[in-house]
Amino acid sequence: MASLKELPPELLSYLLSYLPGTELPKVCKVCRKLRDAVAVDLVWQTRCNVEYRFVSKQGWEPASFYDIYTKVLHKYGSVVGLWQPHIGPYGGLTYVKYERGQIVGYDCQPPREPDVKGPLRLKPLFSITLNGESGEVEQKCHKGYGGPHKCNILLKANPLEGLSLEMKCLELHLHQHPGGRETALEEWILEETDGGHHGPMFHERELLIIKFHILMQLQHHANVMTPIKLPCLGPAVKLVDPGLYKGNYGSHGIELILLTYQGQFQEVHGMKITGDPNVPASEISITADLRRPMILTEDQQDSVEVLGEIDTPDILPGNETNFVREQPFKIPQDCIDRYRRTPKTCRARFHGFGRIAGHGYTNPSSIPGHWIVFDEHNFGFIWLDLRSFSMFSKVTETFDIQPSAAAITRGQI
Ligand SMILES: [Zn+2]
Repeated sequence: MASLKELPPELLSYLLSYLPGTELPKVCKVCRKLRDAVAVDLVWQTRCNVEYRFVSKQGWEPASFYDIYTKVLHKYGSVVGLWQPHIGPYGGLTYVKYERGQIVGYDCQPPREPDVKGPLRLKPLFSITLNGESGEVEQKCHKGYGGPHKCNILLKANPLEGLSLEMKCLELHLHQHPGGRETALEEWILEETDGGHHGPMFHERELLIIKFHILMQLQHHANVMTPIKLPCLGPAVKLVDPGLYKGNYGSHGIELILLTYQGQFQEVHGMKITGDPNVPASEISITADLRRPMILTEDQQDSVEVLGEIDTPDILPGNETNFVREQPFKIPQDCIDRYRRTPKTCRARFHGFGRIAGHGYTNPSSIPGHWIVFDEHNFGFIWLDLRSFSMFSKVTETFDIQPSAAAITRGQI
């Protein structure tokens, strides 16, 4: 039988490209022929692609795939994906992706109130590049006013808590507005409220001021983020797609939730990805019991009082065509509609609960509500005791976050 060393070099390189990149340095030590076979950049191109889904090195030149694998991806490749920062009660959404010659982390803010169908507002948070001259990896913070500056980005794998991503700015003085803190606050409020177009109400402004000061305070600490796993779109899902949604949260503006189906499609949970001082991020905001559907007439929706009395399921579950059908929908006269362009019909309706709490998540409680399905990408929630209606619309941005082979073999998925 021919030994490995007798194989033609191209074939040897091809075979070696099946080995994990972390094993290749050991192979190099065996002999010169193997070392030469590993040195072929095609081997490293395959590893970049298979382990980190890194395909194009456009913008990274003159770096080779070997450079990119060993200096960038081996350390930072698993940063690519969706993360939830843990910033006080506010949470958030960070999307890290490959771009021309860099890995970029974007802070994804919900659209401004009341436009739940609007796009997310993406702002660069950090970047990771390879300096063409020194060959060193550079980590830059993109916040503040002085252009990109130094930061530390650290990926931690804790056996108990799992993977976390930490970002710490090393030049915080560049986050200070040249016009002072008051100017920074006013500009920020303007940005969050669409330039006074829909000028903030007193309570909204108060909440924005609190948020501004908390964010300012917390930037002195590392920004710690944990991975967000998006649910798969299974064939059994017929009501509403699971995934990320934007919804109206009154004075708190628009917040992001992650909608998932629980059990054998018995319940729906909406977990907060962004939060507020009342109900913070990572708490369950709304639930719906799919075993308690209802079909209501228009008259039954005249007032919240009448709605609140509809208690028993009037349709037995079993055959879902029973309750998934076009039916009248209207917002009761005594209910606040923050969306104002609500459809006149819905596709299904269920009993559910919504989480409310005092400032600082004090006295949290679940109040009855109705979960209303309009189509695959839109649903509503009537908070009965609050007499208010929130509209939720699916986040339409696509995130390239297919798990890499490396993450699967490391058991992170
Ligand atoms: Zn910074």
